[in-house]
Amino acid sequence: MSKLLEDIVGELSRLPGIGRRTALRLSMHILRMEAGSVERMAEAIARFRTEIRYCTRCNNLSDTDICPICRDGERDRTIVCVVEQVGDVLSIENTRQYKGLYHVLGGVISPMQGIGPSDLKIDLLLDNIARGEIKEVILALSTTVEGETTLFYISRRLAQHPDLKVTSIARGIGFGDEIEYADELTIAHAIHNRIPL
Ligand SMILES: [Zn+2]
Repeated sequence: MSKLLEDIVGELSRLPGIGRRTALRLSMHILRMEAGSVERMAEAIARFRTEIRYCTRCNNLSDTDICPICRDGERDRTIVCVVEQVGDVLSIENTRQYKGLYHVLGGVISPMQGIGPSDLKIDLLLDNIARGEIKEVILALSTTVEGETTLFYISRRLAQHPDLKVTSIARGIGFGDEIEYADELTIAHAIHNRIPL
């Protein structure tokens, strides 16, 4: 096998869900693409890795210190939806039902994987709340054991703000479901029918 082909197949197959067969198929596809679009793709990958940052306010991925959602003057700044990961922001945004801000934890508490509360952006959330603008926090976490543990931990920390309304998205999302994989209608329904904690 060509060394160049071996290299690209080797690199692509390092990605999750990409086996050698798929990597070979993708390589052949890349070979048929225009040179210019391959260059743009390679540049996008490299720039994403080196230039992407995390919003200093909500921990969402951003090109700048403050992400576009946090900068958007049209959004309701009194309500914050707490999610596990960046993909969850995209899923909820796709529903077009939510106009508040987000807070990306960067994972869930998982003793099995050695992830504790201090590994997540929970203090940043509390700092934002301490500024006083936020009136409601919606916890939109997966209904897994880790999600429930995280929900319990955060709601306990938020109890120090008695005036803060704390809700959880309706558990219409089945137990064990990850938000990222729920369909848009289910997510929209779950946000509308959120329950007080
Ligand atoms: Zn942000």
